[in-house]
Amino acid sequence: MTRRLNVRVDHACCVGNAMCLATAPGVFAHNDHRQSEVVDPEGESEEKILEAAFNCPTRAIRVEIAEGGEQLFP
Ligand code: SF4
Repeated sequence: MTRRLNVRVDHACCVGNAMCLATAPGVFAHNDHRQSEVVDPEGESEEKILEAAFNCPTRAIRVEIAEGGEQLFP
């Protein structure tokens, strides 16, 4: 069974370079301000979401397990 994740983007940090969109296009999309938004936290595998978070140059992506709130990244 796939565990549900809470995925958030800190807009104070996001510089809009779209790396997360390239890695996990089912989860992230740009908003009108060209910053990343989470459109579907279940849109990609956990591995892809964590890869996107790890590769974000400003560490703007926060990932935690929905049930219990354990932080997976950063
Ligand atoms: S990779 Fe990070 S900085 Fe780039 S668009 Fe995504 S959240 Fe923003």
